[in-house]
Amino acid sequence: MADVQNQIGLIMQLRRRGIRDADVLRAIERIPRELFVDEAFSEHAYQDIALPIECGQTISQPFVVAFMTEKLELKPTHKVLEIGTGSGYQAAILSQLCRRVYSVERWRELQKAAEARLAKLKITNVTTIIGDGWLGWPPQAPFDRIIVTAAALDAPAALLDQLKEGGRMIIPLGETRDTQSLVQIDKTPEGLVETPLLPVRFVPLVHGRVKRD
Ligand code: SAH
Repeated sequence: MADVQNQIGLIMQLRRRGIRDADVLRAIERIPRELFVDEAFSEHAYQDIALPIECGQTISQPFVVAFMTEKLELKPTHKVLEIGTGSGYQAAILSQLCRRVYSVERWRELQKAAEARLAKLKITNVTTIIGDGWLGWPPQAPFDRIIVTAAALDAPAALLDQLKEGGRMIIPLGETRDTQSLVQIDKTPEGLVETPLLPVRFVPLVHGRVKRD
């Protein structure tokens, strides 16, 4: 009961902050965020804050998850690539709104934990992959949408190549944590169109997968 109330409180907060897409709000309402955070933080699971997860990474703030998801303008037919599985929370939200999600993570430990959470929720349209997100996931390219949940200086070329024409990527770009901006990149027939959306703070998109963990 307490969780249901917490969940409703979170939805109200997201609405106040300007999230309007009813499908996105419904997806957030359906996915219990407490499953994706360490037990030590479960009482904070429905607050609008980022929280630490294993391997020195973070689960994003719900507002940022909702905002990025809303900007993707997902359709039920879409095939989506996520870079940075982390806890699997963003992937679980995406899974409610599109046909298929491929999510790449460099830490085996995180990928395994995310996979177990998704299985527990009986989510079957997310495939998690251990790999280097800088390379995307060529076997399933091209993608209708790409979401990157770690920050880079520039959008990785491989990801731009793997985006369908008419497709959209949402990615945090910037030199330091203090100068990152969430950017929307649309692949149009005339070329790439970049729209800055919001100042954000993400962990860095690191080169290479973790070989030993
Ligand atoms: N989307 C996640 C939050 C991700 S935090 C969630 O909902 O919980 C960013 C994640 O990106 C971290 O787990 C980090 O390990 C991963 N990451 C960083 N660089 C990467 C790379 N090159 N390839 C794949 N994953 C990467």
